[in-house]
Amino acid sequence: MKTIYLDNNATTRVAPEVVEKMMPYFSEYYGNPSSMHMFGGVVGKQITEARENVAALINADPGEIIFTSCGTESDSTAIYAALQSNPKKRHIITTRVEHPAIKNLCEHLAKTGYRVSWVPVDREGRLDMDYLAHRMTEDTAIISIMWANNETGVIFPVEKIAQMAAEKGIAFHTDAVQAVGKIPVDVKKSGINMLALSGHKFHAPKGVGVLYVKKGTKFAPFLIGGHQEKGRRGGTENVASIIGIGKAAELARKDLADGEMDRVRSLRDRLESEILEKIPNTLLNGSREDRLPNTLSVSFEYVEGESILLMLDQLGVCASSGSACTSGTLEPSHVLRALGVPFTAAHGSIRFSLSTYTTPEEIETVASELPPLIRKLREMSPFWKKGASCSIQ
Ligand code: PLP
Repeated sequence: MKTIYLDNNATTRVAPEVVEKMMPYFSEYYGNPSSMHMFGGVVGKQITEARENVAALINADPGEIIFTSCGTESDSTAIYAALQSNPKKRHIITTRVEHPAIKNLCEHLAKTGYRVSWVPVDREGRLDMDYLAHRMTEDTAIISIMWANNETGVIFPVEKIAQMAAEKGIAFHTDAVQAVGKIPVDVKKSGINMLALSGHKFHAPKGVGVLYVKKGTKFAPFLIGGHQEKGRRGGTENVASIIGIGKAAELARKDLADGEMDRVRSLRDRLESEILEKIPNTLLNGSREDRLPNTLSVSFEYVEGESILLMLDQLGVCASSGSACTSGTLEPSHVLRALGVPFTAAHGSIRFSLSTYTTPEEIETVASELPPLIRKLREMSPFWKKGASCSIQ
C-alpha cells in the first residue's frame, strides 16, 4: 500500500537533494568548524554558505542568523533574551492559539511572576487587533505572535504588528515555523526583531532550527557555553543538519519564486471543495483567504477525529486530528477552542497538510475515499442519528 502523506505541518520528508548534500559531512568531512586546521575550514565554509542561504530565504543578513537545535529552542531563546534584556519589564503579550513552544513557556513564566496577555481570535481565527493594541504598555517586555498557525494555517498580520510594537519600543518576536518556505517571509520589510524557524517543516532534517535576530536588537544567549555563533549560542554546531537546512532554504526559495506553492494551493483547494461539497455537516476551520497554501483544517460533525485518522491510516493516508490526548480524554485542541468551533464538530477535526511532493492523484484518492468513510462512521454514531437533522450554528 502506498503512503499518502498529508501531515506536512507535523514534519516533512527530507528532500533527496538535502540528503545528498549532507552525506559527506558525516564520515568524510567530520571536522569541527571551530578548528584551525584545513579539515575544520572545509566545514566552516559550508556553514557560511548555509547561513547565506537561510538569510536569503527570509531577506536577512547572514550575521543575523543563529543556528539552533529546533524551533522550540529558537522560540525560548527569543523570549528569554527579551526578558533578560529588559529585567524591569514583567509583561508579555502573546495569542491564545500559539504552538506549545510559546504557549507552555508563557504559562510557565506566568507562574514565575510575569503577567501574560493572551490575545483572542474570532471564529475565523483572526486576531483581535484592538485587544492587542490596548494591552501594549511600558511594562511590556516582548510581544510574541506566530506568523501562521500550525493547525488552521491562518496567517497573522505580523508586519503590521511589528510596526505597532516598534512605535511603542517593544521587542517583537514571531514564531514563523509554519510560514517559512510556504509563503514569502521578508524580515527587512517587516521590521521584526526576532523570528524562529525550523528545518523539518521545509524538507531539512529534524533537530535544526534558526533564530533570526535583527541587528541592534538587545540579546542574551540562552545556551551559554563556547564561542559558537559569535557567542550567541554555545555548543558545537550540528554541521550536517546546518548544511541540510541551507540546501533546503535554497530549494524553498526557488520553489517560491517558481510558483510551486500556487500548485500546492490549487491541490489543497480541490481537496477542500470536494470535502465540503460531498460531506454534509462539515465545517472549514479558519479564514479561507488569510491562510497557508498547504493547510486544510475541517471538522466533521458527530464523528471522532481519532476514528477518522485510524480509518485513513488503514488506507495509507497520514493526517492529523485536532485533539490533544491529555489525561485519557480527547479534548479539542486549545486552537479549535479559541476559534469557538462547536462542540459537536470540534471532536471530529482533521488537518490535512500538503507539500511540494503531494500529487493530484493522491488528492483524488483522498477526496474519493473520505465521503464513504465519514458516512460509515456516522452510521455507527448515536449522536449522528439524533442530531443529523440539526443544522450547524
Ligand atoms: N512553532 C510552531 C508553529 C510549530 O508548528 C512547531 C512544530 O510543530 C514548533 C514551533 C516547534 O518546532 P520544533 O519541532 O522544531 O521544535
